[in-house]
Amino acid sequence: MLRRTAVAARAPAWRASPLDLVVAVVTVLGVLALVVSFAAEPWWDSLRAEPEVYAVLGLALLVAELRPIPISRGDDTVDHITISTTFTVALLAIGPLSLALAAQVLAVVAGDLRGSSTARKVVFNAAQYVLSMTAARLAFAAVAEDVGFHDRHLDYGTRFVLPTLVAGAVFVVTNHLLVACAVSLETGVPFREVAAQDAMFSLTTSAVLISLAPVAAFVSEASVWMLLLLLLPMLAVHRSAAHSMLREQMALHDPLTGLGTRVLLRMRGDRLLADSDASAGPSIVVVDLDHFDDINDSYGLPTGDAVLVEVAIRIRATVPDDALVCRLGDQFAILLPAGRAGADGLSANLLRVLDAPAELGDVRLMLQASIGVAVAPEHGQDMEVLLKNASVALHDPARRRDRATFYRPDADQGTLERLRLLSELRTAVDERQFVVVFQPQISVETGHLVGAEALVRWNHPTRGMVPPDVFIGLAENSGLITPMTAVVLDEALGALARLRRAGHELRMAVNMSARHMSDLTLPQLVRDALSRHGIPAHLLTLEVTETGILSEPASVDAVVRDLRELGVSIAVDDYGTGHASLSYLKRLDIDELKIDKSFVIDMGNDTGDAIIVRSTIELGHDLGLRIVAEGVEDAETLAMLARLGSDYAQGWHIGRPMPEHDLRAMLDRWGEGPGWSRLRAGGRD
Ligand code: C2E
Ligand code: CA
Ligand code: CA
Repeated sequence: MLRRTAVAARAPAWRASPLDLVVAVVTVLGVLALVVSFAAEPWWDSLRAEPEVYAVLGLALLVAELRPIPISRGDDTVDHITISTTFTVALLAIGPLSLALAAQVLAVVAGDLRGSSTARKVVFNAAQYVLSMTAARLAFAAVAEDVGFHDRHLDYGTRFVLPTLVAGAVFVVTNHLLVACAVSLETGVPFREVAAQDAMFSLTTSAVLISLAPVAAFVSEASVWMLLLLLLPMLAVHRSAAHSMLREQMALHDPLTGLGTRVLLRMRGDRLLADSDASAGPSIVVVDLDHFDDINDSYGLPTGDAVLVEVAIRIRATVPDDALVCRLGDQFAILLPAGRAGADGLSANLLRVLDAPAELGDVRLMLQASIGVAVAPEHGQDMEVLLKNASVALHDPARRRDRATFYRPDADQGTLERLRLLSELRTAVDERQFVVVFQPQISVETGHLVGAEALVRWNHPTRGMVPPDVFIGLAENSGLITPMTAVVLDEALGALARLRRAGHELRMAVNMSARHMSDLTLPQLVRDALSRHGIPAHLLTLEVTETGILSEPASVDAVVRDLRELGVSIAVDDYGTGHASLSYLKRLDIDELKIDKSFVIDMGNDTGDAIIVRSTIELGHDLGLRIVAEGVEDAETLAMLARLGSDYAQGWHIGRPMPEHDLRAMLDRWGEGPGWSRLRAGGRD
């Protein structure tokens, strides 16, 4: 018998609802049936005549009711089946009904009390069992020959098999309908729907249990102790059910975080999609941790795992109760029954919650997450498509870091576009379609033009000049960054050699991608390039972001050491935007911090930015590092930087990235004296 929550506790309303009425009627009829059968039947005689039969069947009924078998419905929801039906039907076939009712009522009350049901629910449940059993006994008496409704019949023989089966069927069906009626009234779901729900599942399992009822009755008649033999296979079923639940649990849950797996996500999602009325929802919210690979690389897998667990805990604490959280590798997917508005609210909360630093042992990590969302039905009608589109949204170039991105159909276009660009980028590397431009850097103190940063452009045959933001990421992800960087380094040092021959002494900065810093062949490549162009190593600075420095600490340390031995300088680029702990500043022998332009551009108006710039300069100087402020767009900023003691400045106010001959012209002009006064006065070079 499948047991479902029939009546939940509700605040008592004074006006009787239809549900109250049904509960009242069922209860009154149940009590009446119980009283009548006890009054009309010689139950005491039966009990005295064969106490062991009633004791063993009653006990079996009680145990079965208290130890339901967990049955998975295949989607991580669990139903419980009690095998008590077998003994209930056996008891009511043997008769008298009163004893069967008493045993059943006791078992139900014991079972419900253990499940901490409300009194109202227990009473209703017991009463509806009494009614179902009374109906079953009526059917039994009608089908069996020479058996009255109130008869006691211990003389169980094969001729009662059919009546017992019929009685069992009536019992199960009546029970199912009564419960469905209460559930329907309580939840407002139409009766037919509730009754149809799980009807197949419930009736087929019940059929098996009913078919065992004549066996139980027959055996207890022959020798009650034989019943114990019947209990053994039931015990086996119990154990194997528990076992298969465990196995399924493992397939559907990630052992690390306890979250759902992709399989579970599919199953639940498919079901939600099938159930939903197609107006809004469900939604898929995919959470991606930025720089997770770097965390894994630099702190090791155990820390990576700890981060995943921490994030899982935070997500679980944030999502509503009806959401399902799953882990897909280093991403998390949340299945939300709600539509766009719900997903939007949740995403905002998630971004906030995940932004807090994670304390893992003695490591403090800044986490940052990106979120992509797809909502059914507008972004897809099946799980496959929704998941794909949520990750398209995650990689949408229009994505803003501080916001969740919803899927846009034209973002797919962007993906195609990127693929095309990638194939063209291969050609670009082969044909050296790259142009290097140079952005001047001045000494804040003297106003002299002391260096330049080499910035790459892609001179595309049909698109014209493509800016680096469009293709650096592609180059990094495809491995093309290595040959591309070799080209840029070669061009930059070639230009520097020509400028030096023209009498200009300056430093050259070249950007390095994260992956280069752990590439053990990089120092050799740099050494070759330097000697090819006859450039002293101290004139070259390699700019790396914090992420680059934090990738694979062991090899980064070796590469940085080798480069420093060569005499090359290392600068931390975009300083302040990384989300790493700053311990590397102590560990690594670096030379320069480039304060990110996002802090510099508006430092004249934004006190927060100004404070960051000031304290970075102090920190850098305390550590013996050179400070370059980039993004200097006006004279005020430059003046401020001079007051704060920044060593170098770079930015549009001083000069935009420019071709080699323009830089040379600028150097020629500035050779006559620093352009300092002009810049200070607000003019441009
Ligand atoms: P980055 O290394 O931070 O380079 C500075 C960027 O800021 C340059 O953009 C530059 O044009 C811009 N910039 C300079 N002064 C100002 C200013 O006053 N105001 C504003 N708003 N922007 C200014 P660009 O050239 O588009 O380069 C973008 C990024 O592309 C670079 O950022 C760097 O990360 C990457 N990149 C450029 N060339 C290379 C390269 O050869 N190799 C690698 N790996 N990355 C490169
Ligand atoms: Ca740079
Ligand atoms: Ca930068």
